[in-house]
Amino acid sequence: LARILRVSLSRLQRKMREAGMGEEASYDHVLTAEYAVLLAEEFNYKPVVNDEAAFDLYPSLPTDSSTLPLRPPIVTIMGHVDHGKTTLLDTLRSTSVAKGEAGGITQHIGAFSVPVPNSVGGGLQQITFLDTPGHAAFSAMRARGADVTDIVVLVVAADDGVRPQTKEVIQLIQRDPDVQLIVAINKVDKPGVDVNKVQNALLAEGIQLEAMGGDVPSVEISGLTGKGLDQLVETITAVAEMQDLRADSKGQAYGRIIESKLQKGLGNVATVLLLSGSLKPGAHLIAGTTHAKLRIMTDSTGSQIKVAGPGMAVTVSGWKELPGAGDEVLDGSEQDVKKAVANRKRKAEEQAMMVDIDAINVQRRLDREQRGREEGDQPDVTSETEKKPHELRLVIKADVSGSVEALEGALKCIGNENARAKIVFTGVGEITESDILLAKTSESTIIAFAVPVPRSAVAAAVAQSIPIVSSKIIYQVIEDVRQRVANLLPSVY
Ligand code: GDP
Repeated sequence: LARILRVSLSRLQRKMREAGMGEEASYDHVLTAEYAVLLAEEFNYKPVVNDEAAFDLYPSLPTDSSTLPLRPPIVTIMGHVDHGKTTLLDTLRSTSVAKGEAGGITQHIGAFSVPVPNSVGGGLQQITFLDTPGHAAFSAMRARGADVTDIVVLVVAADDGVRPQTKEVIQLIQRDPDVQLIVAINKVDKPGVDVNKVQNALLAEGIQLEAMGGDVPSVEISGLTGKGLDQLVETITAVAEMQDLRADSKGQAYGRIIESKLQKGLGNVATVLLLSGSLKPGAHLIAGTTHAKLRIMTDSTGSQIKVAGPGMAVTVSGWKELPGAGDEVLDGSEQDVKKAVANRKRKAEEQAMMVDIDAINVQRRLDREQRGREEGDQPDVTSETEKKPHELRLVIKADVSGSVEALEGALKCIGNENARAKIVFTGVGEITESDILLAKTSESTIIAFAVPVPRSAVAAAVAQSIPIVSSKIIYQVIEDVRQRVANLLPSVY
């Protein structure tokens, strides 16, 4: 507001205190329109209140779900590299095509459905598998994926046992009470594998399998031969039934973008994972700052479908611009969708401008510091690295200012006299190109806490080798930063 009114922040705050708004004068307080109007008038402006300008679309609030129909569980397969995730997904996917009616070619759309045999389903007809490992935006998606995933199948190769990424997944799950874990001990077709050894190694990580008297279900499988996959599907079904996953199949459509791409002949195509409501041709959709009029929907077997319900993943073409992975998708009237898109675009531009200004300020400060060092009065005989502690510089972006403060407090304490974290910049909102630029010039690592990392930002970061730590779990961020700082310590022989 101070910027718009072209006064300094301290002057605005003084005015607020004079007007008896002392409490509102803190940095992170969100002003109501009424207060903003009063203040603007204090500075001789004649503001116009435009409620339209703040228009946006929001998901309708969930009602009591116990009477709603069951929906398919959404399952993510995770595990250490080479433990067989891709092979398992491929085998499951081909099962889905063989059993489905289309019998056609599988399409990689980021998700696919596997039918549940009638004898085990108990009302549940399908399982939806997310199929995203190796995806460029996967790390960003995974942080948000926790939002949509009901069940994680942790694949552990019987011939290799518990490895670093296995432990990572375990930590991820232990912090997310809404996600259920199923362990798939894979590659049991290999001669001489010792399943018991794997079970014990998992126990050492705090995972008590049912086979060991605990409560985590496990299945012995071979993704390669297909052995045990029926049991895996049954186990997933049983866990999903316990979770009692229900969603409104009639109301407003609400979902997430799984992936999007430009497809020859079809234009901008995106996979929508529907979480609630239904989708039909003719619907108007919004995702981030783009929109689509739904003409044709297809599923992962490439067949056109007329109606999609909760838990299903479908591709939708006709997007004005490509939406980003993880973006929220909503439907609304054509007019509402267009209005919301226009408003979101305006807001994004305003935010980008503010970040630009901040980035310039930080860059100036860095330049000043650099000059200060060069002109410093002490002759610099030892090299920088010998004299100064190793620094992990951080650019922190978070969803709200409260998170920024919490992260700042936690992260700035990490390190010792030899290596430490140093915060270069903090801000609220999604990762923008200016953040990437800033991280590049200041050689920083980006912390994206509970904020979107758009595709373009991921691509730019990858191209410029800028690490992005993206998570919405604060302990995970702290642990990651701690590890990165530890890695900076000179090795001791
Ligand atoms: P990912 O990195 O976890 O996706 O692992 P992949 O699916 O790419 O598998 C890594 C290697 O293990 C490949 O050579 C696969 O053929 C092999 N593999 C995967 N699953 C099995 C299995 O069940 N049995 C055997 N013997 N090999 C497997």
